[in-house]
Amino acid sequence: MAQLSDDCFAFGGPLLTIEAARDRLERTLSPVTPVDSVPLAEGLGRVLAADIAAPIDVPPHPNAAVDGYAVVFDDLAADAETVLPVGGHVAAGAALGRTGRRGETVRILTGAPMPAGFDTVVMQEDCRRDGDHVVIPPGLRRGANHRAAGEDVARDSTILSAGCRLRPQELGLLASVGIDRVAVRARLRVALFSTGDEVREPGTALASNCIYDANRTSLTGLLQGLGVAVTDLGILPDDPARIRSALAEAAAGQDLLLTSGGVSTGDEDHVKTAVEALGALHVWRLAIKPGRPVALGTVAGVPFVGLPGNPVAVMVTFMLLARPLILRLAGAAPREPQRFPVIADFDYRKKPERREFVRARLAAGADGSVRARKFPRDGAGILSSMVEADGLVELPELVTEVAPGATVRFLPFSEVL
Ligand code: AMP
Ligand code: MG
Repeated sequence: MAQLSDDCFAFGGPLLTIEAARDRLERTLSPVTPVDSVPLAEGLGRVLAADIAAPIDVPPHPNAAVDGYAVVFDDLAADAETVLPVGGHVAAGAALGRTGRRGETVRILTGAPMPAGFDTVVMQEDCRRDGDHVVIPPGLRRGANHRAAGEDVARDSTILSAGCRLRPQELGLLASVGIDRVAVRARLRVALFSTGDEVREPGTALASNCIYDANRTSLTGLLQGLGVAVTDLGILPDDPARIRSALAEAAAGQDLLLTSGGVSTGDEDHVKTAVEALGALHVWRLAIKPGRPVALGTVAGVPFVGLPGNPVAVMVTFMLLARPLILRLAGAAPREPQRFPVIADFDYRKKPERREFVRARLAAGADGSVRARKFPRDGAGILSSMVEADGLVELPELVTEVAPGATVRFLPFSEVL
């Protein structure tokens, strides 16, 4: 496994924009996972390890796009009906066994190979069968309903690039060119911890002054969505020695250590000191709300990411920063999540110099516009707001005020899950 140098996350600057943070990750990190070969059926969500070229044309042969009659376009009258005898029949998977002739038509079914000589297919709904003849109306386009060989995929062309995350459509495309196994990256191994003396396991009785661990469950879901292998290492108490030994032990068999809580500047934020003692730790003060700060470091050459403790801040910093970092380590080429313009249905004031992500739900306005309604409570601990929301309205650094009716950028959760 590739080891990271201790200073790879070194950063002593002031507030970092989220783009600057991601640029730094992009420049410092490279894939750490080995290459694996899997059958297509196990490929969903995996990261392609190499470019793939098509070994064949798709479709492999010219064929009919509809059920109908194959003709030579030049046999058709431009402004009158044409009557042609039906000289044969060809179904998908079969062949006519000869070339098409001038002055005839052949019954052809969807997907059947187009006999050489014919160049156009008349849809059966558009013509009239009259015994062993077909009456074809004028107005057809040359080449209509005819699929050329290679019109979907040309042989030898690159159909998928290394770093692509395989979705059902990529897997289908691979199958369409006859490929049944692919080289993918091994799943990134991520060890997950929660921290805090007050944090307790759901399903147990809640002691006084304690809360249930929400972060480990939402982070597990976020990680599973990225196709990584999660090792759940439970809840660490605010005990420097315990944190230290747990992190050191986990580093031995993992590609990434991920924690939540214990990295701000409170007296009990021992995760920071533990990582500093084991390797290196750098606190990146992100110019975002909710979310800052995030701790990045290394433990025995294994990257460490310490997310904040508040459950909303955890999810938002995961989506904006941990996600691209993880995808990069996993060998994927993360695409910038898409934002869409929507109309604000709320007013809002914010400080300049930091970007705010406002939880919002989308609804269609009476005029057909897409409107974003802000969740009324926006504390970094209000996890119910994430359930209500469809995504985040992104308010740039320089914006200090939003009035109802303003166009704002909306980042759907579906882009970052
Ligand atoms: P910390 O950064 O450790 O000071 O945590 C900030 C806030 O997040 C505190 O109110 C913690 O109780 C809360 N918190 C920390 N970890 C979790 C967790 N796993 N689930 C829910 N809340 C948490
Ligand atoms: Mg804590």
